[in-house]
Amino acid sequence: MAGGEQAVGVTEGILRRQAARESAARTYARALPIVPVRARGLTIEGADGRRYLDCLSGAGTLALGHNHPVVLEAIRDVLDSGAPLHSLDLATPVKDAFVTELLSTLPPGLAGRARVQFCGPAGTDAVEAALKLVRTATGRTGILAFTGAYHGMTTGAQEVSGHAADLPGHGSRVTRLPYPHSYRCPFGVGGEAGAQLAARWAESVLDDPKSGVPHPAGLILEPVQGEGGVIPAPDTWMRRVREITAARSIPLIADEVQTGVGRTGAFWAVEHSGITPDVMVLSKAIGGSLPLAVVVYRDDLDLWQPGAHAGTFRGNQLAMAAGTATLAYVRRHGLAERAATLGSRMLSRLRRLGEEFSCVGDVRGRGLMIGMEMVEAEAEAADFAAGGVVASDLVEADVFGDTPGVGGLAAEDIRDVRPASARRPRPASPRLAAAVQRECLHRGLIVELGGRHASVVRLLPPLTITDEQATAILDRLADAVAAAARTAPTAQERDQYREQRGAHSPQPG
Ligand code: PLP
Repeated sequence: MAGGEQAVGVTEGILRRQAARESAARTYARALPIVPVRARGLTIEGADGRRYLDCLSGAGTLALGHNHPVVLEAIRDVLDSGAPLHSLDLATPVKDAFVTELLSTLPPGLAGRARVQFCGPAGTDAVEAALKLVRTATGRTGILAFTGAYHGMTTGAQEVSGHAADLPGHGSRVTRLPYPHSYRCPFGVGGEAGAQLAARWAESVLDDPKSGVPHPAGLILEPVQGEGGVIPAPDTWMRRVREITAARSIPLIADEVQTGVGRTGAFWAVEHSGITPDVMVLSKAIGGSLPLAVVVYRDDLDLWQPGAHAGTFRGNQLAMAAGTATLAYVRRHGLAERAATLGSRMLSRLRRLGEEFSCVGDVRGRGLMIGMEMVEAEAEAADFAAGGVVASDLVEADVFGDTPGVGGLAAEDIRDVRPASARRPRPASPRLAAAVQRECLHRGLIVELGGRHASVVRLLPPLTITDEQATAILDRLADAVAAAARTAPTAQERDQYREQRGAHSPQPG
């Protein structure tokens, strides 16, 4: 058998055994039948010899791409030094260096008074720890969280995520608030006006003595929702949420598991709005591709008892060394600024693509966290009007009445917020998004899907990519969109879509 055929046979055998032996809950492996054997930077090579540009990057983990030399060197140094690989939460020089580097990157208002809790190694562990921390510190139980959020898969983290409805007896301690979403605005108005209404809603829930919401222990948010469909929160809304929570002594938890370490064009995404959260939840890139998670919080919240949040795997020396190297590299090489410039260039090109193809409903993102929402181009928009209402309907129905400034907005402000063409988002198309992902894979490009309806094609490339690599990614993606757009839905697919409408799709982390 020729080498190539043999390699294909090996790949098929491994994939077949995986399908037969691994859990039905497996995620990425279903859409990406790849058996990676080598990787460097943006590129992954499969056992069959095929090469791919990887814009999934370990679900946004690989700030420096695969196997960056500084990461490999840091790992080798630890291995060669004879240091223990496992050290519970004992002090070590490797950990000391990690904490020093981490604190040097944090918003100054937090860094100066920070405490660091090493928790279990996944993002979801850090979310659990943060929830326990604020509940202990405040003596309160309830948590405010947002529609569309994703914070992980353990019970507490899932309770504060948008797919909490999957949990039996869900949501008893969590109050859900609307997250501002310009394209699918819960108030039907989008833009700054929608964000203002979202903030106003939060305020009224907190101040209305009959809202049914007890004074909460904390509020948790993502500065850019990732798995929820790449939705950047407006800076004005972030600042308003900070004011609302500070005025009511509610600890604000920023989940920067996905947005951190330069991804959005600032080292931490909270820097865009200039706010200082009380608690930050960090994972993914901070471990330089190995598992590591921490909670960083202001010292006056440090009221829990010794052992209140323990765990065996909190001292991964290789991850800390890889993380220190990654944080330092991003800082020294200005990769956050690079992500901002390159990201806005990529967004502009994708927006032009959106003008060409009506099945591209929206293009959005911040830095190198980019999303393209696929929609049913031909469907009857009025039939679907996701989010239900539009501004003109509200105004016509006199919902705002004659009261000037309801929610800080007059009816005239709302009426003209969006162009008529943009008022009704078309129905999300998970079918087209899956087709784009498949077509990308044929062209050697790995992209992630996300969003409420799994209809958002996501790009999370390493922050180290060159201009040429960015062009290659966009060329392949543009080709893939054109190919997917040529595939008309079958009647059965349309029916399936209609059945799925309103059903949420749980997001992989
Ligand atoms: N928080 C956010 C914002 C995430 O995006 C994720 C995962 O994607 C998590 C928490 C959970 O992290 P992990 O999958 O490591 O548990």
